Amino acid sequence: MDHFDVVIVGSGHGGAQAAIALRQNGHEDTILMVSRDRNPPYERPPLSKEYLAGEKPFERIQIRPEKFWADKNVELRLGRNVNEVDPVARELSLSDDTSVTYRKLIWAAGGDARRLSCAGSDLDGIHYIRTRRDVDALKAELAAGARRAVIVGGGYIGLEAAAVLRKLGCAVTVIEMQDRVLARVAGAELSDFYAAQHRAHGVDLRLSTGLEKVEGKDGRVTGVVTDSGEAIACEIVIAGIGIVPSVGPLIAAGAAGTAGVDVDSYCRTTLDDIYAIGDCATHANPYADNAVIRLESVQNANDMATTAAKAIMGDKQDYHAVPWFWSNQYDLRLQTVGISAGYDATVLRGDPADGKFSVIYLKEGHVIALDCVNNTKDYVQGRKLVMDRAEIAPELLADVDVPLKQMG
Ligand code: FAD
Repeated sequence: MDHFDVVIVGSGHGGAQAAIALRQNGHEDTILMVSRDRNPPYERPPLSKEYLAGEKPFERIQIRPEKFWADKNVELRLGRNVNEVDPVARELSLSDDTSVTYRKLIWAAGGDARRLSCAGSDLDGIHYIRTRRDVDALKAELAAGARRAVIVGGGYIGLEAAAVLRKLGCAVTVIEMQDRVLARVAGAELSDFYAAQHRAHGVDLRLSTGLEKVEGKDGRVTGVVTDSGEAIACEIVIAGIGIVPSVGPLIAAGAAGTAGVDVDSYCRTTLDDIYAIGDCATHANPYADNAVIRLESVQNANDMATTAAKAIMGDKQDYHAVPWFWSNQYDLRLQTVGISAGYDATVLRGDPADGKFSVIYLKEGHVIALDCVNNTKDYVQGRKLVMDRAEIAPELLADVDVPLKQMG
Protein backbone atom coordinates (compact mmCIF):
# COMPACT_ATOMS: atom_id res chain seq x y z
CA MET A 1 0.00 0.00 0.00
CA ASP A 2 1.31 3.46 -0.91
CA HIS A 3 1.97 5.95 1.85
CA PHE A 4 1.98 9.74 1.46
CA ASP A 5 2.87 12.42 3.93
CA VAL A 6 -0.18 14.48 2.90
CA VAL A 7 -3.17 13.21 0.97
CA ILE A 8 -5.54 15.79 -0.46
CA VAL A 9 -9.03 14.62 -1.46
CA GLY A 10 -10.42 16.81 -4.24
CA SER A 11 -8.80 18.68 -7.11
CA GLY A 12 -10.91 21.83 -7.07
CA HIS A 13 -9.87 25.27 -5.86
CA GLY A 14 -9.29 24.12 -2.29
CA GLY A 15 -7.36 20.95 -3.13
CA ALA A 16 -5.15 22.64 -5.70
CA GLN A 17 -4.36 25.59 -3.46
CA ALA A 18 -3.60 23.26 -0.53
CA ALA A 19 -0.88 21.55 -2.57
CA ILE A 20 0.46 24.89 -3.80
CA ALA A 21 0.48 26.37 -0.29
CA LEU A 22 2.19 23.31 1.19
CA ARG A 23 5.04 23.61 -1.30
CA GLN A 24 5.19 27.40 -0.85
CA ASN A 25 5.49 26.88 2.90
CA GLY A 26 8.41 24.51 2.61
CA HIS A 27 6.74 21.10 2.55
CA GLU A 28 9.13 18.73 0.80
CA ASP A 29 7.64 15.33 1.53
CA THR A 30 5.17 13.38 -0.61
CA ILE A 31 1.77 14.80 -1.57
CA LEU A 32 -1.03 12.89 -3.29
CA MET A 33 -4.14 14.53 -4.71
CA VAL A 34 -7.01 12.10 -5.32
CA SER A 35 -10.06 13.25 -7.21
CA ARG A 36 -13.22 11.89 -8.67
CA ASP A 37 -12.83 14.40 -11.51
CA ARG A 38 -10.85 13.10 -14.48
CA ASN A 39 -9.35 16.47 -15.34
CA PRO A 40 -6.35 18.16 -13.78
CA PRO A 41 -7.36 20.99 -11.41
CA TYR A 42 -9.48 23.67 -13.11
CA GLU A 43 -11.47 26.73 -12.11
CA ARG A 44 -15.19 26.39 -11.59
CA PRO A 45 -16.40 30.00 -11.98
CA PRO A 46 -15.87 30.04 -15.78
CA LEU A 47 -18.09 26.95 -16.11
CA SER A 48 -21.21 29.14 -15.96
CA LYS A 49 -19.51 32.06 -17.70
CA GLU A 50 -16.75 32.07 -20.35
CA TYR A 51 -16.37 28.31 -20.69
CA LEU A 52 -20.10 27.80 -21.24
CA ALA A 53 -20.09 30.74 -23.66
CA GLY A 54 -17.25 29.12 -25.62
CA GLU A 55 -15.04 32.14 -24.97
CA LYS A 56 -12.36 30.22 -23.05
CA PRO A 57 -11.07 26.76 -23.89
CA PHE A 58 -10.33 24.25 -21.14
CA GLU A 59 -6.59 25.04 -21.22
CA ARG A 60 -7.33 28.57 -20.11
CA ILE A 61 -9.36 27.57 -17.08
CA GLN A 62 -6.79 25.19 -15.60
CA ILE A 63 -5.59 26.36 -12.19
CA ARG A 64 -2.00 25.63 -13.24
CA PRO A 65 -0.57 24.25 -16.50
CA GLU A 66 -0.68 20.46 -16.35
CA LYS A 67 3.07 20.02 -15.97
CA PHE A 68 3.10 22.20 -12.83
CA TRP A 69 1.91 19.31 -10.67
CA ALA A 70 4.69 17.00 -11.80
CA ASP A 71 7.23 19.81 -11.46
CA LYS A 72 6.12 20.30 -7.85
CA ASN A 73 6.14 16.60 -7.24
CA VAL A 74 2.42 16.45 -6.48
CA GLU A 75 1.05 13.09 -7.57
CA LEU A 76 -2.42 13.21 -9.12
CA ARG A 77 -4.71 10.19 -9.08
CA LEU A 78 -7.70 11.36 -11.07
CA GLY A 79 -11.00 9.69 -11.90
CA ARG A 80 -11.08 7.94 -8.53
CA ASN A 81 -13.50 8.39 -5.68
CA VAL A 82 -12.47 8.12 -2.05
CA ASN A 83 -15.08 5.75 -0.66
CA GLU A 84 -13.93 5.23 2.89
CA VAL A 85 -11.75 6.85 5.51
CA ASP A 86 -10.26 4.85 8.36
CA PRO A 87 -9.04 7.51 10.78
CA VAL A 88 -7.35 4.99 13.09
CA ALA A 89 -5.31 3.18 10.43
CA ARG A 90 -5.01 6.54 8.57
CA GLU A 91 -6.08 4.81 5.42
CA LEU A 92 -8.30 5.74 2.47
CA SER A 93 -10.11 3.23 0.26
CA LEU A 94 -10.38 4.34 -3.35
CA SER A 95 -12.87 3.34 -6.02
CA ASP A 96 -10.13 1.61 -8.03
CA ASP A 97 -9.85 -0.94 -5.20
CA THR A 98 -6.58 0.47 -3.95
CA SER A 99 -5.82 2.00 -0.58
CA VAL A 100 -3.37 4.67 0.50
CA THR A 101 -2.21 5.77 3.92
CA TYR A 102 -1.48 9.31 5.09
CA ARG A 103 0.14 11.24 7.90
CA LYS A 104 -2.13 14.26 7.32
CA LEU A 105 -5.35 14.33 5.31
CA ILE A 106 -6.92 17.41 3.74
CA TRP A 107 -10.54 16.88 2.73
CA ALA A 108 -11.36 19.33 -0.09
CA ALA A 109 -14.22 17.48 -1.68
CA GLY A 110 -16.58 20.42 -2.21
CA GLY A 111 -20.10 19.40 -3.04
CA ASP A 112 -22.26 17.79 -5.68
CA ALA A 113 -24.96 19.68 -7.53
CA ARG A 114 -28.27 19.13 -5.79
CA ARG A 115 -30.42 17.04 -8.13
CA LEU A 116 -34.03 17.62 -9.06
CA SER A 117 -36.33 15.17 -7.31
CA CYS A 118 -39.69 15.80 -9.00
CA ALA A 119 -41.34 13.53 -11.58
CA GLY A 120 -39.30 13.39 -14.78
CA SER A 121 -35.99 14.20 -13.07
CA ASP A 122 -34.19 11.37 -14.84
CA LEU A 123 -34.99 12.50 -18.39
CA ASP A 124 -32.21 13.26 -20.87
CA GLY A 125 -31.82 16.98 -21.37
CA ILE A 126 -31.64 17.83 -17.66
CA HIS A 127 -28.35 19.54 -16.83
CA TYR A 128 -26.34 20.74 -13.86
CA ILE A 129 -23.33 23.07 -13.87
CA ARG A 130 -20.71 21.81 -11.47
CA THR A 131 -18.03 20.03 -13.49
CA ARG A 132 -16.36 20.32 -16.85
CA ARG A 133 -18.20 17.20 -17.88
CA ASP A 134 -21.56 18.77 -16.98
CA VAL A 135 -20.85 21.80 -19.12
CA ASP A 136 -19.47 19.81 -22.04
CA ALA A 137 -22.72 17.83 -22.07
CA LEU A 138 -24.76 21.03 -22.03
CA LYS A 139 -22.65 22.59 -24.77
CA ALA A 140 -23.07 19.48 -26.91
CA GLU A 141 -26.86 19.80 -26.71
CA LEU A 142 -26.71 23.48 -27.57
CA ALA A 143 -24.49 22.65 -30.53
CA ALA A 144 -26.97 19.98 -31.59
CA GLY A 145 -29.70 22.61 -31.82
CA ALA A 146 -31.40 22.95 -28.44
CA ARG A 147 -32.84 26.46 -28.43
CA ARG A 148 -35.28 26.65 -25.52
CA ALA A 149 -34.09 26.33 -21.95
CA VAL A 150 -35.83 26.37 -18.61
CA ILE A 151 -33.51 27.23 -15.75
CA VAL A 152 -34.61 26.15 -12.29
CA GLY A 153 -33.22 28.45 -9.62
CA GLY A 154 -32.49 32.17 -9.67
CA GLY A 155 -29.21 32.05 -7.75
CA TYR A 156 -25.84 33.05 -9.16
CA ILE A 157 -25.29 29.94 -11.27
CA GLY A 158 -28.79 29.95 -12.74
CA LEU A 159 -28.62 33.64 -13.59
CA GLU A 160 -25.12 33.41 -15.07
CA ALA A 161 -26.24 30.53 -17.24
CA ALA A 162 -29.31 32.52 -18.28
CA ALA A 163 -27.09 35.43 -19.36
CA VAL A 164 -24.85 33.15 -21.44
CA LEU A 165 -27.75 31.32 -23.05
CA ARG A 166 -29.43 34.58 -24.03
CA LYS A 167 -26.16 35.68 -25.60
CA LEU A 168 -26.12 32.40 -27.53
CA GLY A 169 -29.61 33.17 -28.83
CA CYS A 170 -31.65 30.72 -26.74
CA ALA A 171 -35.13 31.38 -25.39
CA VAL A 172 -34.69 31.28 -21.63
CA THR A 173 -37.23 30.93 -18.83
CA VAL A 174 -36.00 31.12 -15.24
CA ILE A 175 -38.28 29.80 -12.51
CA GLU A 176 -37.51 30.77 -8.93
CA MET A 177 -39.46 29.65 -5.87
CA GLN A 178 -38.72 32.77 -3.81
CA ASP A 179 -40.33 36.09 -4.58
CA ARG A 180 -36.99 37.50 -5.73
CA VAL A 181 -33.77 36.26 -7.35
CA LEU A 182 -30.55 35.93 -5.29
CA ALA A 183 -32.72 35.86 -2.15
CA ARG A 184 -30.27 33.67 -0.24
CA VAL A 185 -27.29 35.95 -0.76
CA ALA A 186 -28.35 39.54 -1.37
CA GLY A 187 -30.80 42.26 -0.39
CA ALA A 188 -33.92 43.27 -2.29
CA GLU A 189 -32.28 46.23 -4.10
CA LEU A 190 -29.80 43.92 -5.80
CA SER A 191 -32.43 41.27 -6.50
CA ASP A 192 -34.75 43.80 -8.13
CA PHE A 193 -31.93 45.19 -10.24
CA TYR A 194 -30.87 41.77 -11.53
CA ALA A 195 -34.47 40.72 -12.17
CA ALA A 196 -35.00 43.86 -14.28
CA GLN A 197 -31.73 43.31 -16.15
CA HIS A 198 -32.61 39.75 -17.06
CA ARG A 199 -36.06 40.76 -18.21
CA ALA A 200 -34.55 43.56 -20.29
CA HIS A 201 -32.33 40.94 -21.94
CA GLY A 202 -35.38 38.86 -22.83
CA VAL A 203 -35.38 36.30 -20.03
CA ASP A 204 -38.85 35.15 -19.05
CA LEU A 205 -38.39 35.31 -15.28
CA ARG A 206 -41.06 33.70 -13.11
CA LEU A 207 -40.77 34.48 -9.42
CA SER A 208 -42.67 32.67 -6.62
CA THR A 209 -42.86 29.74 -9.03
CA GLY A 210 -41.91 26.15 -8.26
CA LEU A 211 -41.26 23.17 -10.50
CA GLU A 212 -44.00 20.56 -10.43
CA LYS A 213 -42.57 18.11 -12.96
CA VAL A 214 -40.43 17.70 -16.04
CA GLU A 215 -42.20 16.24 -19.04
CA GLY A 216 -40.67 14.18 -21.78
CA LYS A 217 -41.07 11.95 -24.78
CA ASP A 218 -38.94 8.93 -25.63
CA GLY A 219 -36.80 9.61 -22.57
CA ARG A 220 -36.05 13.21 -23.52
CA VAL A 221 -37.20 16.49 -22.01
CA THR A 222 -40.02 18.25 -23.86
CA GLY A 223 -40.96 20.79 -21.21
CA VAL A 224 -41.74 21.51 -17.58
CA VAL A 225 -44.91 22.11 -15.62
CA THR A 226 -44.81 24.75 -12.90
CA ASP A 227 -46.57 24.49 -9.54
CA SER A 228 -49.32 26.73 -10.90
CA GLY A 229 -49.96 24.13 -13.59
CA GLU A 230 -48.46 26.06 -16.46
CA ALA A 231 -46.62 24.06 -19.12
CA ILE A 232 -43.46 25.54 -20.63
CA ALA A 233 -41.95 23.79 -23.65
CA CYS A 234 -38.18 23.39 -23.81
CA GLU A 235 -35.42 21.06 -24.99
CA ILE A 236 -33.18 21.55 -21.98
CA VAL A 237 -33.62 22.08 -18.26
CA ILE A 238 -30.76 23.45 -16.19
CA ALA A 239 -31.01 23.13 -12.43
CA GLY A 240 -29.03 25.55 -10.29
CA ILE A 241 -30.48 24.68 -6.91
CA GLY A 242 -27.44 24.47 -4.68
CA ILE A 243 -25.04 21.77 -3.62
CA VAL A 244 -24.92 18.84 -1.25
CA PRO A 245 -21.58 18.86 0.60
CA SER A 246 -19.46 15.85 -0.31
CA VAL A 247 -18.63 14.65 3.20
CA GLY A 248 -20.17 11.17 3.40
CA PRO A 249 -16.98 9.17 4.03
CA LEU A 250 -15.74 11.62 6.68
CA ILE A 251 -19.01 11.67 8.58
CA ALA A 252 -19.17 7.87 8.37
CA ALA A 253 -15.67 7.83 9.87
CA GLY A 254 -16.96 9.80 12.87
CA ALA A 255 -16.21 13.43 12.01
CA ALA A 256 -18.65 15.93 13.51
CA GLY A 257 -20.90 17.81 11.12
CA THR A 258 -24.49 18.09 10.04
CA ALA A 259 -24.62 20.44 7.03
CA GLY A 260 -21.00 19.76 6.08
CA VAL A 261 -17.99 18.80 8.18
CA ASP A 262 -17.16 20.94 11.20
CA VAL A 263 -13.73 22.55 11.41
CA ASP A 264 -12.00 24.79 13.93
CA SER A 265 -10.13 27.98 13.14
CA TYR A 266 -7.16 25.98 11.77
CA CYS A 267 -9.49 23.95 9.53
CA ARG A 268 -9.09 20.82 11.68
CA THR A 269 -11.99 18.40 11.82
CA THR A 270 -12.77 16.52 15.02
CA LEU A 271 -10.72 13.58 13.69
CA ASP A 272 -6.97 13.52 14.38
CA ASP A 273 -4.82 14.96 11.59
CA ILE A 274 -7.77 15.40 9.25
CA TYR A 275 -8.41 18.90 7.92
CA ALA A 276 -11.35 20.04 5.80
CA ILE A 277 -11.54 23.13 3.61
CA GLY A 278 -13.70 24.92 1.08
CA ASP A 279 -17.34 24.38 0.21
CA CYS A 280 -17.71 21.34 2.47
CA ALA A 281 -16.31 22.91 5.66
CA THR A 282 -18.65 24.39 8.27
CA HIS A 283 -16.82 26.90 10.40
CA ALA A 284 -17.46 29.80 12.79
CA ASN A 285 -16.93 32.83 10.56
CA PRO A 286 -15.89 36.09 12.23
CA TYR A 287 -17.57 38.05 9.41
CA ALA A 288 -20.88 36.39 10.24
CA ASP A 289 -20.75 37.13 13.98
CA ASN A 290 -19.10 33.72 14.39
CA ALA A 291 -22.19 31.92 13.11
CA VAL A 292 -21.31 28.42 11.93
CA ILE A 293 -21.65 28.52 8.15
CA ARG A 294 -20.36 27.07 4.91
CA LEU A 295 -19.13 29.50 2.29
CA GLU A 296 -19.17 28.60 -1.38
CA SER A 297 -16.53 30.81 -2.93
CA VAL A 298 -13.09 30.64 -4.47
CA GLN A 299 -11.78 33.01 -1.81
CA ASN A 300 -12.93 30.75 1.01
CA ALA A 301 -11.52 27.59 -0.62
CA ASN A 302 -8.16 29.24 -1.31
CA ASP A 303 -7.79 30.93 2.06
CA MET A 304 -8.85 27.85 4.01
CA ALA A 305 -6.37 25.81 1.97
CA THR A 306 -3.57 28.15 2.98
CA THR A 307 -4.69 28.06 6.62
CA ALA A 308 -4.65 24.24 6.64
CA ALA A 309 -1.31 24.03 4.82
CA LYS A 310 0.29 26.45 7.27
CA ALA A 311 -1.12 24.58 10.25
CA ILE A 312 0.34 21.36 8.88
CA MET A 313 3.68 23.13 8.55
CA GLY A 314 3.47 24.23 12.19
CA ASP A 315 2.50 27.83 11.47
CA LYS A 316 -0.94 27.99 13.09
CA GLN A 317 -2.93 31.06 12.09
CA ASP A 318 -6.64 31.44 12.68
CA TYR A 319 -8.83 31.56 9.61
CA HIS A 320 -10.27 35.06 9.49
CA ALA A 321 -10.00 36.08 5.85
CA VAL A 322 -12.45 38.68 4.57
CA PRO A 323 -15.07 36.93 2.42
CA TRP A 324 -15.36 38.14 -1.16
CA PHE A 325 -17.12 36.92 -4.26
CA TRP A 326 -17.95 37.99 -7.80
CA SER A 327 -20.48 37.24 -10.50
CA ASN A 328 -20.51 38.25 -14.18
CA GLN A 329 -23.80 38.56 -16.02
CA TYR A 330 -24.15 40.42 -19.35
CA ASP A 331 -21.96 43.52 -18.99
CA LEU A 332 -22.46 43.62 -15.23
CA ARG A 333 -19.64 42.76 -12.89
CA LEU A 334 -20.83 42.23 -9.35
CA GLN A 335 -18.22 42.21 -6.60
CA THR A 336 -19.20 41.40 -3.04
CA VAL A 337 -17.21 41.83 0.14
CA GLY A 338 -18.33 40.68 3.58
CA ILE A 339 -21.36 38.59 4.46
CA SER A 340 -24.69 40.38 4.30
CA ALA A 341 -26.74 37.74 6.16
CA GLY A 342 -28.28 39.26 9.28
CA TYR A 343 -28.28 42.87 7.99
CA ASP A 344 -30.91 45.17 9.44
CA ALA A 345 -30.56 48.11 7.04
CA THR A 346 -29.21 48.86 3.58
CA VAL A 347 -27.87 51.99 1.95
CA LEU A 348 -28.05 52.48 -1.78
CA ARG A 349 -24.98 54.29 -3.07
CA GLY A 350 -25.44 55.50 -6.63
CA ASP A 351 -28.32 54.99 -9.02
CA PRO A 352 -29.03 51.47 -10.37
CA ALA A 353 -30.39 53.17 -13.51
CA ASP A 354 -26.78 54.18 -14.31
CA GLY A 355 -25.71 50.53 -14.22
CA LYS A 356 -23.11 51.43 -11.57
CA PHE A 357 -23.96 51.43 -7.88
CA SER A 358 -23.37 49.72 -4.56
CA VAL A 359 -25.61 48.33 -1.85
CA ILE A 360 -24.10 48.68 1.60
CA TYR A 361 -25.38 46.36 4.31
CA LEU A 362 -25.50 47.52 7.92
CA LYS A 363 -26.08 45.74 11.18
CA GLU A 364 -26.76 47.87 14.24
CA GLY A 365 -25.26 50.80 12.36
CA HIS A 366 -22.03 49.00 11.37
CA VAL A 367 -20.96 48.16 7.81
CA ILE A 368 -20.95 44.36 7.36
CA ALA A 369 -20.96 43.90 3.56
CA LEU A 370 -21.12 45.58 0.17
CA ASP A 371 -22.50 44.45 -3.18
CA CYS A 372 -20.87 46.58 -5.88
CA VAL A 373 -22.14 46.54 -9.46
CA ASN A 374 -19.63 47.82 -12.02
CA ASN A 375 -18.09 49.70 -9.14
CA THR A 376 -14.66 48.30 -8.35
CA LYS A 377 -13.66 51.46 -6.53
CA ASP A 378 -16.34 51.01 -3.87
CA TYR A 379 -15.52 47.32 -3.65
CA VAL A 380 -11.83 47.98 -3.02
CA GLN A 381 -12.39 50.87 -0.64
CA GLY A 382 -15.36 49.28 1.14
CA ARG A 383 -13.28 46.29 2.17
CA LYS A 384 -11.65 48.24 4.99
CA LEU A 385 -15.04 49.41 6.24
CA VAL A 386 -16.14 45.76 6.44
CA MET A 387 -12.92 44.71 8.18
CA ASP A 388 -13.34 47.51 10.73
CA ARG A 389 -17.11 47.08 11.02
CA ALA A 390 -17.11 50.83 10.61
CA GLU A 391 -19.97 52.82 12.06
CA ILE A 392 -20.87 55.52 9.53
CA ALA A 393 -24.00 57.59 9.09
CA PRO A 394 -26.16 56.19 6.28
CA GLU A 395 -26.46 59.66 4.68
CA LEU A 396 -22.69 59.84 4.36
CA LEU A 397 -22.42 56.30 2.96
CA ALA A 398 -24.99 57.25 0.33
CA ASP A 399 -23.04 60.34 -0.78
CA VAL A 400 -21.29 59.28 -4.00
CA ASP A 401 -19.22 62.47 -3.95
CA VAL A 402 -17.37 61.22 -0.88
CA PRO A 403 -15.09 58.22 -1.56
CA LEU A 404 -15.54 55.35 0.88
CA LYS A 405 -11.85 55.50 1.76
CA GLN A 406 -12.46 58.88 3.36
CA MET A 407 -15.06 57.45 5.70
CA GLY A 408 -13.10 54.83 7.60
P1 FAD B 1 -14.66 21.96 -5.55
O1 FAD B 1 -14.04 23.00 -6.41
O2 FAD B 1 -16.06 21.56 -5.81
O3 FAD B 1 -13.74 20.67 -5.61
C1 FAD B 1 -14.13 19.46 -5.03
C2 FAD B 1 -13.33 18.34 -5.62
O4 FAD B 1 -13.50 17.14 -4.88
C3 FAD B 1 -13.71 17.97 -7.03
O5 FAD B 1 -12.52 17.80 -7.75
C4 FAD B 1 -14.46 16.64 -6.89
O6 FAD B 1 -14.35 15.84 -8.02
C5 FAD B 1 -13.73 16.04 -5.72
N1 FAD B 1 -14.45 15.03 -4.92
C6 FAD B 1 -15.65 15.17 -4.31
N2 FAD B 1 -15.93 14.06 -3.58
C7 FAD B 1 -14.87 13.22 -3.72
C8 FAD B 1 -14.55 11.94 -3.20
N3 FAD B 1 -15.35 11.30 -2.34
N4 FAD B 1 -13.39 11.36 -3.59
C9 FAD B 1 -12.55 11.99 -4.45
N5 FAD B 1 -12.80 13.23 -4.95
C10 FAD B 1 -13.93 13.84 -4.58
N6 FAD B 1 -17.12 31.24 -6.60
C11 FAD B 1 -16.71 32.54 -6.66
O7 FAD B 1 -16.06 33.00 -5.73
N7 FAD B 1 -17.04 33.33 -7.73
C12 FAD B 1 -17.73 32.83 -8.79
O8 FAD B 1 -18.00 33.57 -9.75
C13 FAD B 1 -18.15 31.47 -8.76
N8 FAD B 1 -18.82 30.92 -9.80
C14 FAD B 1 -19.12 29.58 -9.78
C15 FAD B 1 -19.71 29.01 -10.89
C16 FAD B 1 -20.00 27.65 -10.90
C17 FAD B 1 -20.63 27.04 -12.13
C18 FAD B 1 -19.69 26.85 -9.79
C19 FAD B 1 -19.99 25.37 -9.79
C20 FAD B 1 -19.11 27.42 -8.68
C21 FAD B 1 -18.81 28.78 -8.66
N9 FAD B 1 -18.21 29.39 -7.57
C22 FAD B 1 -17.82 30.70 -7.62
C23 FAD B 1 -17.95 28.61 -6.34
C24 FAD B 1 -16.55 28.07 -6.32
O9 FAD B 1 -16.20 27.52 -7.55
C25 FAD B 1 -16.46 27.02 -5.22
O10 FAD B 1 -16.74 27.67 -4.00
C26 FAD B 1 -15.10 26.34 -5.19
O11 FAD B 1 -14.90 25.61 -6.35
C27 FAD B 1 -14.99 25.45 -3.96
O12 FAD B 1 -13.79 24.76 -4.00
P2 FAD B 1 -13.64 23.35 -3.25
O13 FAD B 1 -12.23 22.94 -3.46
O14 FAD B 1 -14.19 23.45 -1.90
O15 FAD B 1 -14.63 22.38 -4.02
